[in-house]
Amino acid sequence: MSYLVLARKSRPQTFAQVVGQRPVVKTLQNSIKRNRVAHAILFSGVRGVGKTTLARLMAKAINCQNEQEDRPCDKCPSCREIAAGTSLDLYEIDGASNRGIQEIRELKEKIRFLPTSAKYKIIIIDEVHMLTTEAFNALLKTLEEPPAHVHFMFATTEIHKIPITILSRCQQYELKRVSAQELYNHFEKLAVAEGYEIEPAALSLIAREAGGSVRDGLSLLDQMFSFGEQKITTRDVVEVLGLVSREVLMRLTKGLLDGTMKEVLLALDEIFGYGMDIKRFMEDLMGTFRSLLLCKIEGCSGLIDLPEEELAECRKLAEGVTSETLHLKLALLMQTADELRHAAQPRLTLETAFLKIVEAGNVVPLTTLLGHLDEVIKNLPVCHPSTVSLPPAEKTKEETPLPRSQPEPSPPLPPEDPQDARTAAHPAPPPEPVAAIPAATLPPESESAPAEGEAKPVKIKPHEKDSRKDWLEFINYVKIRKMWMAQDLQRADQIRHDVEGELQLTYHDPANCSLLRQKENRQLLTEFALDFFQKQLKVRFIIPAAEDQAESNGESPNRKRAQLAGDPLVVMAAEIFNGEVGDIRIGPHSR
Ligand SMILES: [Zn+2]
Repeated sequence: MSYLVLARKSRPQTFAQVVGQRPVVKTLQNSIKRNRVAHAILFSGVRGVGKTTLARLMAKAINCQNEQEDRPCDKCPSCREIAAGTSLDLYEIDGASNRGIQEIRELKEKIRFLPTSAKYKIIIIDEVHMLTTEAFNALLKTLEEPPAHVHFMFATTEIHKIPITILSRCQQYELKRVSAQELYNHFEKLAVAEGYEIEPAALSLIAREAGGSVRDGLSLLDQMFSFGEQKITTRDVVEVLGLVSREVLMRLTKGLLDGTMKEVLLALDEIFGYGMDIKRFMEDLMGTFRSLLLCKIEGCSGLIDLPEEELAECRKLAEGVTSETLHLKLALLMQTADELRHAAQPRLTLETAFLKIVEAGNVVPLTTLLGHLDEVIKNLPVCHPSTVSLPPAEKTKEETPLPRSQPEPSPPLPPEDPQDARTAAHPAPPPEPVAAIPAATLPPESESAPAEGEAKPVKIKPHEKDSRKDWLEFINYVKIRKMWMAQDLQRADQIRHDVEGELQLTYHDPANCSLLRQKENRQLLTEFALDFFQKQLKVRFIIPAAEDQAESNGESPNRKRAQLAGDPLVVMAAEIFNGEVGDIRIGPHSR
């Protein structure tokens, strides 16, 4: 018994058996039902999607004698003849080998006569784009005035090579690649019919490998059937067809996204073990990243050609990563694919590239970060930008007694509240206002009496350079002991440590020194100063912004600046990005 390849054995004999192409099939069936079939039909599409299959089905349908059923019936004598390849009225011509004008002339000679037994003579020309210009011209005349008893069916993979004059005389159907899911279902039925058992993962691997072509998929299936096992596993498919199993590919993808280098290297080792073509493997891997990216874009999952099960797996994996991460990593993969072309040691190139991709980590979009920030701020205790926090226990000897306007530390947390301790123990967190005192009522830090003119910024004069150098060294000294404190000291707008046994720190923005001003921290700073400068210095904070607020109606640019700089959002942003506020511009110029 001769072996019939699957592609021939499983060739559809009715429209219902066609795999995929539902819209085209529907239209063709309707044209048959209404007896409105065009005299020339052109099917275009990549190989193996069913162009000649549909042309033959149309030939059968046009000549089918069974008026009662869906045509073609595949039962009447005409249908049987065509199926058996014995019909005298059906001419199948391969355009690639019969491309000259002579062949077309012969064809025209044949169609001059009425059909032998069927209603119509049907001419099918495959790969019609291969015809010569002269042949096309000869054909054109016939197409302009087709004999009533003739129907032409053309098929082509390269529609752009067909003269427009021919195209305009044909009804055109563009066939799509068959989806992996449709191929999967089709192959599954075939396998059962042939008595084979194939693992789902193995079947979906074949469906993917077919790349939308039924014929390609069938020939892969043929290869697997002739492999000799009744039960076909994924491992078999991977070995016989030289593919990377989806499972390994997904494992590798996950590793590249989650950042587990061990997983990545093990998967890569497995892939090398298959003796897989590296270029092909990279294409598959990038294809997987593309699918993930499409999963992230609403309404685009239709563009992913994967069986349902794999699609679900992709969706799940995509949920855990941001589009930005996928973009970045896909870009790195593409770069790697490029490098691989000239790589002397592909494996090493891949390993180093994958390391880089894993280390690239996750990219969090700025909008998300800002969103988090908003939430953090929402949960903070009320803290108006223009308020300065002062712990209730702030009143100490070194502080000038607070004047009458000092409000009761209204509903303050009890001084022994654990939060107090926390604030002292953990220097890093943003200032936690224990009792927020509106700036307007803040005592103007009496030392910085406005009348003295001290509030004006005092520039460091040239002869004070040494003093400045000392100061920088002091900051370094503090940095080793209390990083955050050094940072807050650096934020001071002006410093003096050589006057009247005081360490004067001017902050235009009270928010920059709110933590420093807390009793314990001020104490610590005094100790640091004593250790470093070897003299007892009294720490004094000068906050001109507070005066401005007290005096003006908040119109002064300085005050606005201070307000903006102290805005919780700005402060948090500076913390998160580890930056600091630079220039704040107020007024018409900034708009
Ligand atoms: Zn029939």
